[in-house]
Amino acid sequence: MLLTITTTHSPATDLGFLLHKHPDHIQSFELSFGQAHVFYPEAEIHHCTAALLLDIDQVGLVRGRRGASRNEGLLGEYVNDRPYVASSFLSVAISNVYGSALAGRSKERPDLTEIKMPLEAKISPCKGGKSLLKRLFEPLGYQISAQRHSLDEQFTEWGESNYLSVILKATCRLQDLLAHIYVLVPVLDNEKHYWIGEEEVEKLLHHGKGWLAHHPDKELITKRYLKYQRSLARLALARLINDEEPDFEVTETLRDNEEATIEKKISLNEQRLNIVTTVLKNNEAKRILDLGCGEGKLLRLLLKDKYFEEIVGVDVSTRTLEIATNRLRLDELPEKQKNRIKLMHGSLTYRDKRLYGYDAAAVIEVIEHFDSAKLSAFERVLFEFTRPTTIIITTPNVEYNVKFENLPVAKLRHSDHCFEWTRNEFQAWANGIAEKFRYSVTFLPVGDPDAIVGAPTQMGIFSRQ
Ligand code: SAH
Repeated sequence: MLLTITTTHSPATDLGFLLHKHPDHIQSFELSFGQAHVFYPEAEIHHCTAALLLDIDQVGLVRGRRGASRNEGLLGEYVNDRPYVASSFLSVAISNVYGSALAGRSKERPDLTEIKMPLEAKISPCKGGKSLLKRLFEPLGYQISAQRHSLDEQFTEWGESNYLSVILKATCRLQDLLAHIYVLVPVLDNEKHYWIGEEEVEKLLHHGKGWLAHHPDKELITKRYLKYQRSLARLALARLINDEEPDFEVTETLRDNEEATIEKKISLNEQRLNIVTTVLKNNEAKRILDLGCGEGKLLRLLLKDKYFEEIVGVDVSTRTLEIATNRLRLDELPEKQKNRIKLMHGSLTYRDKRLYGYDAAAVIEVIEHFDSAKLSAFERVLFEFTRPTTIIITTPNVEYNVKFENLPVAKLRHSDHCFEWTRNEFQAWANGIAEKFRYSVTFLPVGDPDAIVGAPTQMGIFSRQ
């Protein structure tokens, strides 16, 4: 199964920066279902093509029971079109191998990610038929051509197969092309290889952002993508219609485990929270806001320590707040303790008078969940309007990611992160904010630092001037 992406943007070899793959090298990636190889059949100044070849291990799939469970008997399990046809395996490969391009990031050339360039994607072979192909891609502005494969090239009299070679052409951002393919290829194929759970709703909404809500076939796409699981499809459609609903609501908790597993070895989370507590005390902060409090790990630590007089946890996800309420056993606390802590449902991107007048705000591993519009709203809300005396912000140091063995290259620590910054990027941002809103800022590495790539987490401590 092959996906090629060609551009005639000038210089066309910029494609290499966007895909984070050097045109001179062949690169191979181990995926759970086989291998993916990336190479450039051509890399000229006027014309550049990157190819993503999937080599799916059919036997491994059946033995590992990773494939969809089938009822076609043993032979059907081993002999079917799964290894050869564009399917959700392609989407998984795109997110693993072209993950930063899909997220609209380019480390070396961030300027390129927003450029609309002439792009042509060839996907072969593809199922689903020509008319569905058109219904799905034409509303998104693609010119489409599709050629049926013959059943067997040596026996043309056998006629044509159900499989197509598809070419999609558009002038658009590469991230949009990849997101469209990511969502719509499994819809065409109509067979997903993995368990469809609530996480899939998040993926669909995340990669469908900005286009799916307006797509004339959004219902079909949603139903097929979620493999006809009606309750999930309903949930997704409701959220597509109500764009205000936050992305995190449903499965933040489930997905937190991803990050936790990756960072587990060094128990980074514990170190982070202990440092936050120490910094709060050093700044004589007794009335604390924990913004984006999640399931309440920091809240628990603060609650245990009598030094802290008032503790407020805020989160946009009601489900997460419910979990925090249970974990902290808020209902069973003695009256005196209960009066020290409050959980509030709220968003950090909207002004909220309930949060004015506190000594300090901790914003722990939250900002990386914001896209740029939310980040700038958050900056004003916290630094211009809420203005606590001390603000502690932590975020991953992306340079450190190379040290996590279980994190594939160029992947972020959590699928919901919109970005992860280098130390320079974070400090430039923090210095800019401090200057703009009259705070001073110092930086602290968190976790065991490496001589070259620094510590896994970076912290900015802001003091109001
Ligand atoms: N601070 C916690 C949780 C970090 S995960 C910890 O360190 O363990 C990020 C949290 O931010 C999630 O609970 C998510 O629901 C919350 N969040 C994301 N966007 C938000 C927003 N706009 N307003 C409030 N909370 C938000």
